[in-house]
Amino acid sequence: MDEEPNKKTLHRYYDLIAGGVCLIRQTAEEQILFVNEEMLRIYQCATEDEFFQLTKGRFAGLMEAEDYIPLEARTNSRHGDLDEGYSFLTFRCYTKTGNYRHIEGTFHKVNSPTFGKIWMLNLVNKERSMADSDLDPVTGLLNMHAFYQRVQKKTNALRKTAEPDALEMRYCPVYLNLTNFKVYNELHGIYEGDRMLRKIGQLLKSAFPASYITRLSGDNFALFVPRDGLEVKLKEVCQAVNNEVRMPNITMKAGIGIIEAAASAHRRPITTYFDQAKLACDSIKKDATRSVAFYNESMRQSITDRIFILDNLDRAICKGHIQVYYQPVVRAMTGKFCGCEALARWIDPAKGLLPPDSFIPVLEESRLISRLDCHVIEEVAKLLRYQMDNHFPMVPVSVNLSRYDFLLMDPLAFVERIVEQYHIPRYYLRIEVTESALVKNRHLLIEKLHQFHQSGYQVWLDDFGSAYSSLNVLQNYEFDELKIDQGLLRYFNEDSRKIIRSIVLMAKEMGIHVLAEGTETREHIDFLRAIGCEKIQGYYYSRPMPYELLREQFQEAGWQVETLPEEQALDAAGLINLITDAPVAIFQYREDRAVILSENEAYQNALTTTGTSSLQEFNANMQQQSYPMREKFMAFLAAAVHSSGERRMTFVENGSTCA
Ligand code: C2E
Ligand code: CA
Ligand code: CA
Repeated sequence: MDEEPNKKTLHRYYDLIAGGVCLIRQTAEEQILFVNEEMLRIYQCATEDEFFQLTKGRFAGLMEAEDYIPLEARTNSRHGDLDEGYSFLTFRCYTKTGNYRHIEGTFHKVNSPTFGKIWMLNLVNKERSMADSDLDPVTGLLNMHAFYQRVQKKTNALRKTAEPDALEMRYCPVYLNLTNFKVYNELHGIYEGDRMLRKIGQLLKSAFPASYITRLSGDNFALFVPRDGLEVKLKEVCQAVNNEVRMPNITMKAGIGIIEAAASAHRRPITTYFDQAKLACDSIKKDATRSVAFYNESMRQSITDRIFILDNLDRAICKGHIQVYYQPVVRAMTGKFCGCEALARWIDPAKGLLPPDSFIPVLEESRLISRLDCHVIEEVAKLLRYQMDNHFPMVPVSVNLSRYDFLLMDPLAFVERIVEQYHIPRYYLRIEVTESALVKNRHLLIEKLHQFHQSGYQVWLDDFGSAYSSLNVLQNYEFDELKIDQGLLRYFNEDSRKIIRSIVLMAKEMGIHVLAEGTETREHIDFLRAIGCEKIQGYYYSRPMPYELLREQFQEAGWQVETLPEEQALDAAGLINLITDAPVAIFQYREDRAVILSENEAYQNALTTTGTSSLQEFNANMQQQSYPMREKFMAFLAAAVHSSGERRMTFVENGSTCA
């Protein structure tokens, strides 16, 4: 069918209509077939070509990605059905010239003689009706521009009053942010989201009558309010908002800026103080115990540091100021060095050592983290190559990947390229991703981690038990190893021990290896060994340090390094559960000797029934005597270890395990 001449006819009709008209094909692609002139005006496009370029000719292209829900789904949604066949629609978009707009209107199904089955959209630009007013179309509060104008005027007036410090003493800028509000929109839809924002506007108005209040954008509000009793009032209003939203991970946070009294500060625009209030607000974003914070000087320092990091990252990488430190991992059963973790350190000639906590979040927020992670991976590869060339003992090295790496680049392709370039067996590189990384972009990560696994890399789950601890995480991914978060050892009490014990038990049931991080004391080590945690990393053994230093220390202390066949054997043995009432012990034949590697409490108790007075005595006997014959050894154990009914022994021999 020739659509062009028909379009002319359509223009003749639809260009007369005051609102925007958009016709969309009723297929999964939701292709835009026709728009009238008002649509071009709403999107500030000079020509139809511009419009189709901007929207890619698709319904989804009309709006912000997060507002997109297919039309078919909208008709079935909770707020979709109005009158028969007509549904309500609201979304946000950017126009061709970069203006941000709220669009609303209706849509319905039409059987068009020109196009067949289509959707017809009638849209208006919400701001248009309010264009001349100073109000925010969603909440009816002042819009940002009007707010700042009025606050600046008020500030100037207060500064002119005879009373010194009138402004500083009496008024404060406040910035409010509803954390994770996106989730609310995703769950309830934009329409409900806007309703909630209006409700919040009302709560703010009744808490601060006759004050300047604005919605700056999205879920951010600002106030210019009397200082008296402010903190208490803000806490109350945050609580009221939380009660209204009723979703535990969506919380209102407020930051209070402090206007300086010094005359030198008088020329500063008022917005500076709102920026400070925002910093204060951001500082408690992740602190569940606080809803209100005052701005202080250290927050300003954090901005300066942030700028330094962003300005100097590339230079620091080029000049070698970003180094990789290595922290050893020790096999609990043998005490041998069995791996290490690569950790980034920024050593600036002027500022000294910057810990990763100071620059990694900044690099993540600004989406520059992949530059750092690629650098670390390449440095690790260089080290492995150096070790191979010099026939130094080697252990696998794990590197940390940020979830942003998966959004910004293809980490697997990068790792593969590096592995090829430096001729390194894949076995020596392991990938760590944190538990929290899996909360967002779950599907992408499942796919990408699966690809890593398929390509022959071990994938480890870092910081397990830190925040989101959900067993589902383990079901959907193929993790080779869990790293128990160091927070659990930090508060080393009966509760945390219970959690660690159950993590170890669960991991073994699922056939996943376990490593405990942040082990600092002998007590930690003894506990972890007793419950069968396989690997241990922490200050007790060593802090992260440059490779050369680590090697020196190792040589001095005479540490032994685990070999590849040992790893395979001990990995298999490590999956055996020691957290059981049945007596279990793991032995290893070393040359002609059997050496006990691990035993549980039941085994120790059972032992006392053999007439041996202590485990030490038994083990000493075991190690003194020679048992070249496996049968003889088993017979010895069978005679030695009795328990009421159940008996179980496990051997690790030449890379194989038997129980
Ligand atoms: P992480 O991956 O959980 O790394 C373990 C952190 O625990 C390291 O901190 C390590 O120094 C510290 N640690 C190890 N043993 C102990 C102990 O016994 N006690 C205590 N108190 N701490 C211990 P670090 O090096 O400061 O790194 C902090 C975090 O920064 C890392 O946590 C990781 O999430 C991130 N990070 C470090 N390097 C990189 C990197 O190259 N790329 C990415 N994406 N993240 C990195
Ligand atoms: Ca890690
Ligand atoms: Ca960790």
